Amino acid sequence: MSKDYRVLLYYKYQTIEDPESFAKEMLAFCKSIGLKGRVLVGKEGINGTVSGTVEQTQQYKDYVHSLPGFEDLWFKEDEADGYAHKKMFVRPREEIVSLNLEDDIDPHTTTGQYLSPKEFRDAILDEDTIVLDTRNDYEYDLGHFKGAVRPDIRNFRELPQWVRDNKEKFMEKRVVVYCTGGIRCEKFSGWMVREGFKDVGQLHGGIDTYGKDPEVQGDLWEGKMYVFDERIAVPINHVEPTVIGKDYFDGSPCERYVNCANPFCNEQILCSEENEHKYVRGCSPECRRHPRNRYVAEHGLSTEEWETRLNALGESLKDSQETA
Ligand SMILES: [Zn+2]
Repeated sequence: MSKDYRVLLYYKYQTIEDPESFAKEMLAFCKSIGLKGRVLVGKEGINGTVSGTVEQTQQYKDYVHSLPGFEDLWFKEDEADGYAHKKMFVRPREEIVSLNLEDDIDPHTTTGQYLSPKEFRDAILDEDTIVLDTRNDYEYDLGHFKGAVRPDIRNFRELPQWVRDNKEKFMEKRVVVYCTGGIRCEKFSGWMVREGFKDVGQLHGGIDTYGKDPEVQGDLWEGKMYVFDERIAVPINHVEPTVIGKDYFDGSPCERYVNCANPFCNEQILCSEENEHKYVRGCSPECRRHPRNRYVAEHGLSTEEWETRLNALGESLKDSQETA
């Protein structure tokens, strides 16, 4: 690796007696070395992504590996040109990945069969196996495994209900699941096993590991992988890279995510720079003429300029008075 910065992605299900003080001590350490990122700490374990210089991230790995129970924690690592996060958070949470089950799953006792990247690739090619993406719809839309099922969910918590509603499609089949780094699947595949699904597999180490595997090299992945840091989109397929993301407004190939400028909507949409200006970054007529539209404020648009942009779309600021 040649770049000066690293991004670490990791988790471990491991009992932490006192998440509050664990998080407090870790935050103090991270701040003392100048690391940035986001870490969740719960009684069930730890889940995080952090970024910093090679030296900072090495210090952090040494710190984590010195904690009892975390000596063998597996860090997934990317090189980067700079920090991938703006701030440093370490927060105590009920769950390190939130499924909101009435009766929680402990992946140490109940989880799906672990599949290596090679085994997972074979599963994708097997016609009798269903490949289920456990991530959110906007993650899927930027990139996914060829032929994978796209659950219609905005949040991981909604996945169990979605699977129950679509049970007849999966129940009698072999199902393999995947997510970014593997943490969601540890719990979710466990839930599927408990629900009575007979044959459940999970991609060990997630898409991230699949992309780095020297043998499969991300083969059969389409588009890019969505990540929850400043990079947003990272390459996975090193055999035959493609773009599958589509501009929200005109459907042209696009991998650029923005948030709708209406702060009350904030919907994440794929959108070119050109269309961002054209549509004042609003996902709907209501969002485009919303009085708190952030694009208008950021670009200092006068009311006339704003109205001119909307008129070009066959809309008007006056529409709001009629419908409000
Ligand atoms: Zn919107």
